[in-house]
Amino acid sequence: MIRVRFAPSPTGHLHIGGARTALFNYLFARNNNGKFILRIEDTDRTRSTDEYIEAIIEGMKWLRLEWDEGPFRQTDRFDVYKSYVEKLVKEGKAYHCYCSPDELEQRRKEAMAQGKPQKYDGRCRNLTTPVSGITPAVRFKMPQEGQVVVVDMMRGKVVFENDQLDDLIIMRSDGTPTYNFTVVVDDVDMKITHVIRGDDHLNNTPKQLHIYKALGYEIPLFAHLPMILGADKTRLSKRHGATSVMAYREMGYLPDALVNYLVRLGWSYGDQEVFTREELIEHFSFENVGKSSAVFNPEKLLWLNSQYIIKSNPEELRELVIPFLENAGIIQKGQEIDKQWLSKAIKTLQERAKTLVELASSLRYYIAEDIEYNEKAKAKFLNEKSLPYLKELKESIESPSDFSAQGLENIFKAIVEKHGIKLGALAQPVRVAITGGTESPGIFEVLEVLGKEKTIKRLEKAIKAI
Ligand code: GLU
Repeated sequence: MIRVRFAPSPTGHLHIGGARTALFNYLFARNNNGKFILRIEDTDRTRSTDEYIEAIIEGMKWLRLEWDEGPFRQTDRFDVYKSYVEKLVKEGKAYHCYCSPDELEQRRKEAMAQGKPQKYDGRCRNLTTPVSGITPAVRFKMPQEGQVVVVDMMRGKVVFENDQLDDLIIMRSDGTPTYNFTVVVDDVDMKITHVIRGDDHLNNTPKQLHIYKALGYEIPLFAHLPMILGADKTRLSKRHGATSVMAYREMGYLPDALVNYLVRLGWSYGDQEVFTREELIEHFSFENVGKSSAVFNPEKLLWLNSQYIIKSNPEELRELVIPFLENAGIIQKGQEIDKQWLSKAIKTLQERAKTLVELASSLRYYIAEDIEYNEKAKAKFLNEKSLPYLKELKESIESPSDFSAQGLENIFKAIVEKHGIKLGALAQPVRVAITGGTESPGIFEVLEVLGKEKTIKRLEKAIKAI
């Protein structure tokens, strides 16, 4: 049974890199009928907050990265870690260290000045009696000779020299355990078979391997995912734009589009770009995960989002866009709105809106009572030249007429033919009169959705404005 985990530290929101790690774990689990576990690594109490835990969980739920077990919290498991620490001390595999932070800092500086490695000098390693009056930290006894080999599913063997590894602190003097230790205890306790995480942890893995050995446990398989970079090839960070998953929700991205984009940051399947969730689960494997870092490309994400908007059904989009309409003040919170009509309006806009924010903003001219003109568009199209055509159109529409897109096309055609003008000479002024601007879906469709009453009102307004 394959068991994997996503183990975020709640010291910030769920970001793009974390979400991709979670996604690869999730897909690997689903592809293998395994289990996906969520574990919150909150042992650093000064930096972890409950708000961030909630934010991470919200992000995971939004992306539909459903976990099978958890969320576990490391702060609920301090007793477990403590018992393992005591076991190692008893077996002579860990020891009490009485050096104070100031002393350690002093020695580190000295070592640096002398060009020596800045690791713990092992001073307390062989103490036989406790130092009274000081509560000690606990350090792990790292082997000091030989090598350790990390076998990585993507990179193969990565060799580390043991003399480079520090006798790391596994429990601070305040009794709190540290990351490299808790991660091993938990991965063992939670029967994790594959540790899939960012390659910023690759240097931690040899230390963890020694802890596995000391505890007498079998070592899981590892996959260290290459970092995600910004366009300038440095590690993706806020400097490159939004990095938090929830910021993408606010910008009007669909969760499935973001998932699709994230999976392609490092994984490929032929040259297919757009995948359903089922396809991702079916095809995902580490064989097709790249070894080099992927560059985050916001334009491609936007393109993918537009593809998802095009292929979503209008009813789905309707539910997603309502909060954006509310936020933009286009409808009031909880306002009743004819849902069937809204779907119809959305359908006309799907091909053009790249985000839900854009979709909501285009829906404004359908929903609002009134519109405002773009000044340039007004000057160019609402003038003496278009005035007679607009008047004529209004009259034709006012007399009993077929108000379907087809019926409207006939009305437009009759006017255009009568005056020997191009369709644009009528359609563009009408577009400005109706939407305020010069871009919209086909004008007949727009009018059909807008309805006769509002169309007449807006034509009247334009005529008056001229
Ligand atoms: N808690 C670690 C982090 O957020 C992840 C540790 C791991 O996956 O082993 O970077």
